[in-house]
Amino acid sequence: MVMMLALAEAITFANCARCKAKYVLSPEDLGERGSRVRCQICGNEWFQAPSKLNTLKDNFYLAPYPEERRKQFEPQAPKAPRPNGVNIFVANLPFQASESDVDSLFGAVVSEPVVNIVRDPVGRSRGYGFVNVEDGDAAQKAIDALNGSDFKGRRIVVKHSNDSSLESSSRRRRPPPPPTGKSKESPLEGARR
Ligand SMILES: [Zn+2]
Repeated sequence: MVMMLALAEAITFANCARCKAKYVLSPEDLGERGSRVRCQICGNEWFQAPSKLNTLKDNFYLAPYPEERRKQFEPQAPKAPRPNGVNIFVANLPFQASESDVDSLFGAVVSEPVVNIVRDPVGRSRGYGFVNVEDGDAAQKAIDALNGSDFKGRRIVVKHSNDSSLESSSRRRRPPPPPTGKSKESPLEGARR
């Protein structure tokens, strides 16, 4: 595959902002107005305009996406069902805080929090999210302990989540096709010669 790419005149590709996977795409693949695409590695979705495709620089080539990096972005194994699991809403999070940062914060107070930070199509945190905890008692415990507390310099808001609309609206959309439309093609990464 790499050889075939080397024969192309100008190699253009889409770049996943979250996991950095690259997908060889020509402007014609996207249509005049562009298309919504979805990364096969991390599930990130974004709108790709043909004019915003990247062009492969001299001395760079596209190599198969490394297996060990792929593992980092694998969807997490489904957690054990939580019949009484309760969602807590968390806001005013620092934008650079990751799921695992928030996980540590809540993990100090309740057992096995499941953290979901809401992100924009290029994977940037929107500064709020949801933490699923075991039951109502655990939720109350986390709220009492963490609401209004300082987290990396910001006073976070931690409260009961009554709003399931955010989750259902993101679930409602059907995922768009993978960037290439040739789904057999593997994601790639940029490498220097
Ligand atoms: Zn990705």
